[in-house]
Amino acid sequence: MDKLEQIKIAAEREIKDASNLKSLEDLRIKYLGRSGELTMILRSLADMSLEEKKIVGPKAQALRMELDSMITEKNKKLSERKRSVLDVSRPGKKIKIGHLHPLSIVEKEIVDIFRSMSFSVIDGGPEVETEYYNFDALNIPKNHPAREMHDTFWLEKLGNKNERLLLRTHTSPMQIRYMETHKPPFQIIVPGRVFRYEATDASHEINFSQIECLMVGKDVNLSNFKFIIEEFFARLFKKKLTVRLRPSYFPFVEPGLEVDIQCVKCGGKGCNICKDSGWLEVMGAGMVHPNVLKAGGYDPREYQGFAFGVGPERIAMLKYNIPDIRMFYGGDLRFINQF
Ligand SMILES: [Zn+2]
Repeated sequence: MDKLEQIKIAAEREIKDASNLKSLEDLRIKYLGRSGELTMILRSLADMSLEEKKIVGPKAQALRMELDSMITEKNKKLSERKRSVLDVSRPGKKIKIGHLHPLSIVEKEIVDIFRSMSFSVIDGGPEVETEYYNFDALNIPKNHPAREMHDTFWLEKLGNKNERLLLRTHTSPMQIRYMETHKPPFQIIVPGRVFRYEATDASHEINFSQIECLMVGKDVNLSNFKFIIEEFFARLFKKKLTVRLRPSYFPFVEPGLEVDIQCVKCGGKGCNICKDSGWLEVMGAGMVHPNVLKAGGYDPREYQGFAFGVGPERIAMLKYNIPDIRMFYGGDLRFINQF
């Protein structure tokens, strides 16, 4: 019995360590061959007493089977390794396909909420825009001080009709483009990328995104707007948040509003995110200026509407507690892979 135990320990280790088919075959001969160590014990059973046979026999047989299957198994492994690297019959490996960027996740969430409130999602529009659509049609005439609010990337090349071209500073040009070709009533959102010529810091980027919203009809008013955004923020942050409207100035709306929500982190008590004010500034909005409706081809005495722009970066920063807007475009995978 001691001898069987010794063979078991040694053989198991040696088979496990065998590094090629040749040494594995040597081991098979050493233990299970015609005069192998285990074979000799099995043979000696004939000379044992009945008592001994009963004890040693089954153990030796079991060990023989175990070693046999270990060798077969190991043989399979070693042969596989030996075969060509390209084995088309082997099962495929799963390819890492990545995942959505945090901004795409938030943009999709915002779009889904508006879509569920019957807004149509209008795709993009041109990122290279004319001076007319980006400024003039939106009630920002040349030499108007409001143009200073938009630090602009101007292009050297002129457009087809010799108009000045720029990288759009907001998604609002799409208001005009949409109105020119559609009849009210409608409610749309337009996600898109915009550009500002300015120094970057934790809250400013030269390229960022906006989601433009426009609702026009015969009796659209500010209380419609308030309902829509309250509903929007409640769904986005999954809790009822108090919304505050403050008077503000944007040339393309009258009256213009700055929209604050109750701080999503401290609930209004004051914290580092809201700079102890209890409020977070989240979007600019207002009733569409009569001049803008006219530029879109509508009679402002017949139609009115509201518009606002929301920034997915701002929302994502609040939602995920991201301290610096530059992280979205920095290309650092340690950041991206957290989403
Ligand atoms: Zn706070």
